[in-house]
Amino acid sequence: MSEIRSSSPPIVRFAPSPTGYLHIGNARPALFNWLFALNQGGTFVLRIDDTDRERSTEAFASAIDEDLAWLGIHPHVRVVQSERLALYDAAATALRAAGRLYPCYETADELDRRRKRQLVRGLPPVYDRSALQLTDADRASLEAQGRRPHWRFKLSPGDVAFNDLVRGPVHVDPASLSDPVLVREDGTYLYTLPSVVDDAALGITHVIRGEDHIINTGVQIQLFEALGAAVPTFAHVNLLTTRDGEGLSKRSGALSLRSLRDEGVEPMAVASLAVLTGSSEEIHAYPDMTSLASHIDLARVSHASAKFDPADVMKLSQRLVHALSFAEVADRLDAAGVGGGEAFWLAVRGNLQRVEDAKLWWDIAVLQPIQPSPDLTGEDRAFLALAAARFPEGPVDPLTWKTWTDALKAETGRGGKNLFLPLRRALTGRDQGPELGNYLPFIGRERGLARLA
Ligand code: GLU
Repeated sequence: MSEIRSSSPPIVRFAPSPTGYLHIGNARPALFNWLFALNQGGTFVLRIDDTDRERSTEAFASAIDEDLAWLGIHPHVRVVQSERLALYDAAATALRAAGRLYPCYETADELDRRRKRQLVRGLPPVYDRSALQLTDADRASLEAQGRRPHWRFKLSPGDVAFNDLVRGPVHVDPASLSDPVLVREDGTYLYTLPSVVDDAALGITHVIRGEDHIINTGVQIQLFEALGAAVPTFAHVNLLTTRDGEGLSKRSGALSLRSLRDEGVEPMAVASLAVLTGSSEEIHAYPDMTSLASHIDLARVSHASAKFDPADVMKLSQRLVHALSFAEVADRLDAAGVGGGEAFWLAVRGNLQRVEDAKLWWDIAVLQPIQPSPDLTGEDRAFLALAAARFPEGPVDPLTWKTWTDALKAETGRGGKNLFLPLRRALTGRDQGPELGNYLPFIGRERGLARLA
């Protein structure tokens, strides 16, 4: 079985709960799975973990689809856990029959008191399995009192070992764990059983997720075995935190993929930062998933925490913008109402933080009347009048600016800032901006002369 697996393409999954917006920290496991599948010609399954009916919403589930698509992740398969309950019921029935799923009647309060007593006595606060001592008569009497059972998975003793693709050999000792509750009193499932049942049913070969799941993996391996299913290979990647160690929370909305999108951040800047942080690779914004994928190696993900500086997102994004080709942004420029084709894009891209900021420079070139600077001196006015008189004849092309300013320099002796700044201010109303050689043609003669006057 394992030989067949290693030669066939992997099947991976990303399994978010639709209880909030995805943030850059959630993007990390999503991307590790996506890039792993991309590198190996594998299949990427999106699994919507919505068994928590109270906190899950359809709106968050659609937002997950949208945000992944924006990031550049396009799942091959999408499943929703609330539509797969029959599978979980069948697995629970099988586990009960095998004596691995047993009913417990303790209330949350009782369990809490018991844990406190254990702690006082210096014992680990592990469930003592007293429900296993109940007789049929005890259970019948508890049920007659109106109690409904929750169901625990009976862990087997003995070390659970697995070979993690990031961390190497990992051991989990079940003796330190409570038998996990798989089914709540109301019959709904907690995360563990549906996750394992789906991983088995969908033939997931590699489970790549955050290191906060390592202990779960120990439990889940026993569950795969109890269900007679093949155990996948695991990889636990470290969690992304901000520089000051702050974790990222789904509910805070901070650094959510949608807020980054709304700020005009390029998705590949987010993707590059989300996966390259905490690896031995230098952080560089790769322009597409394929090039990023070639720099991803699970074995090179650090075991320490992955700290990033949120300010780097925009910096990386800006670098990407400066290198985007016209073809890559043509639709977005169109949507933003920016004309001028490729020549305009190439004239301004080096000055942009966001692609959409091209609109500002488009407006400055063709739309916006430029107010003369209030602190213009008489000397400046005279210089601008001379500049207007010397504006080169013929079509305004990328050479016009040089011809023009060379002539003005020769005639006035002005140079550097003295020569260029008054012209830039008069033509654009700003002290800084795109190189005027390529930009001036978009202002053109008529507007140019009007602005100099
Ligand atoms: N829904 C779980 C989570 O968001 C999935 C964990 C897993 O990858 O198994 O933590």
